[in-house]
Amino acid sequence: MQLLMPTSCAFAITYKCNSRCTMCNIWQKYEKDPQAYQKEIRSDQFFAFVKKWQTITSYNIVGGEPFLSPYIEDAALFLLSNGKNFTVTTNGVLSSKITDFVTKLSTFPQQYGISISLDAIGEIHDKMRGRRKSYERAMQTLKNLIQTKENGSNIRLSIHFTLSPLNYSQLWQVYELTKELKLGFRFNFMAYSDFYFENKDTRMKFTETQFNIIENQINKIISDERNGKNTNDKLEKRHAHFRAMLAYEKNQVKNMLCTAYTTHMYLDPYGAIYPCCFLNKKVGTIDDPPEVVWANEELKEFIKCDCKCNICPHWFESVCLMS
Ligand code: SF4
Ligand code: SF4
Repeated sequence: MQLLMPTSCAFAITYKCNSRCTMCNIWQKYEKDPQAYQKEIRSDQFFAFVKKWQTITSYNIVGGEPFLSPYIEDAALFLLSNGKNFTVTTNGVLSSKITDFVTKLSTFPQQYGISISLDAIGEIHDKMRGRRKSYERAMQTLKNLIQTKENGSNIRLSIHFTLSPLNYSQLWQVYELTKELKLGFRFNFMAYSDFYFENKDTRMKFTETQFNIIENQINKIISDERNGKNTNDKLEKRHAHFRAMLAYEKNQVKNMLCTAYTTHMYLDPYGAIYPCCFLNKKVGTIDDPPEVVWANEELKEFIKCDCKCNICPHWFESVCLMS
């Protein structure tokens, strides 16, 4: 049987992080075990992986904080030189480093993405990141990148918002900010993972009132995005997905089909491959042949079956069935 090989990969280039977020414990990994950092793969190993996994055309470079990796720039240059599309998701704290990175890459004609995680306006964002001035720095980074874009840099610039009981009332305000700055916008509900975020024991539940407030904001965003526009397939799917995420979060009703271990994978900083960053089932390493890693039919069936893997409403790893 012809195997469907992956086309997208989320790669955590490092687990080092300069934030101290309340909803994610990645930053604690190297505080607990500093030696583990030595096990992170080197740039040449990542390049060999990219060459070997030819079908992957799109990379989402995540962390930790990706700009703390010693080879973030080399990785980006390598991906662009090899015709791959990528987005770096960052907390935006290292303003100068991120601006230099974008300036250096501006000679490449291909487009790539920078997504800044912004979870609230002002102090609430700082509280969530666990560090003062996080909001100010992220905004400075955005300002710099908007300037480089105006100077001709070919970046897709967007804001990513993670909804939790700590910031549920901020969704609309952050959306309005992205509109004002003319940036892309996406949001997701807080997700849990025992091996990635290491936050499974700190599950936070929304109250009924909070759900109502979230629903109102989602409806407001949907109606604002539709306002004055002809509805098209892409917009309809986007909005159906907003609603599907809410339905899942409220009632565990799954209206999404997962694409993990069919067209999507997660690569950790140590070279281990997983279907996604939520399901703790390692399927191989960067040293294994792709056809071998991608051949566990039993796991594919497990993932396809909602009743067995109904553990996340993730935006990237799923395709909405409601549209
Ligand atoms: S959410 Fe991102 S910025 Fe915050 S601790 Fe986790 S990896 Fe770091
Ligand atoms: S449903 Fe979520 S946890 Fe399960 S495989 Fe898909 S992305 Fe991973």
